[in-house]
Amino acid sequence: MVRGERGILFVVSAPSGAGKTTLVRKVISQLPRVSLSVSCTTRAPRPGEQEGVDYFFITRDEFSAMEREGKFIEWAHVHGDLYGTPRANLERLQHGEDLVLEIDTQGARKIRETFSEGVLIFILPPSLKVLGERIKARGGDSEEAIQARLQNAHKELDQKAWYDYIVVNTEIEEATRELASIIIAERCKTARILAGGRGGIYGTDNG
Ligand code: 5GP
Repeated sequence: MVRGERGILFVVSAPSGAGKTTLVRKVISQLPRVSLSVSCTTRAPRPGEQEGVDYFFITRDEFSAMEREGKFIEWAHVHGDLYGTPRANLERLQHGEDLVLEIDTQGARKIRETFSEGVLIFILPPSLKVLGERIKARGGDSEEAIQARLQNAHKELDQKAWYDYIVVNTEIEEATRELASIIIAERCKTARILAGGRGGIYGTDNG
C-alpha cells in the first residue's frame, strides 16, 4: 500500500544470540507496511537458511564487485565475513513502506552518520549467561566461531547507549509487543504525520 509519504528506516542491532531475527520476523508478520531488508553476506548458509530470504549468499569476489560499484549503503566485517546492505533495498521507503535493517553496530553507526533519518533499536539478551546458551544451542557454528561471537557480543553490548530504544528480550511475546509498539509510535510522531499531510483538517494550516 502506498501512503504517499516516505517510509521509516528502522535499524535493529543485537549481539548474536539475543533472539533478534525471531523477534524482528514476528513483528514484521504482525504489522502492515513494514518489511525486512535482506543483506548480502559471504558467510555460508546455516542449516535451514534460504537464499534471498535470510541473506543473499555471495562470494567474496561478488561482494567486492558490488562494493566497488557502490551497491551497498553500508557494509562491515563481522566474525571474519563480509555483510552489506544493498542500496536497492532502500527504494521501498520511497513507496511509503517502512524498512527494518538487521545489522551490526558498525553498520548502525554508519547509517546514523550518513543519513539524517533512521530509528535505532538495540535488542538486549536478558543476561550474558542466556546469550552464551542461545549461541551454543543454535548449532551450525564451530567452537571457535562460538567463542568469537561471544567476544564480539561483549563489544556490541557496549554500544547500546547511542541507540534510540532498547528492548530486553527476556520473553518473546513481551519483546514482540515492545518492538511493535516502537514502530507504531514512530509512525504516530507529530512531525511525520504533518510532513506526510496526514493531519487532515487538523493540519498545520488549521490555526
Ligand atoms: P549472522 O551471521 O549471525 O546472521 O549475523 C552476524 C551479524 O552480522 C549480526 O550482528 C547481524 O546483525 C550482522 N549483519 C547482518 N547483515 C548485515 C549487514 O548488511 N550489515 C552489517 N553491518 N551487519 C550485518
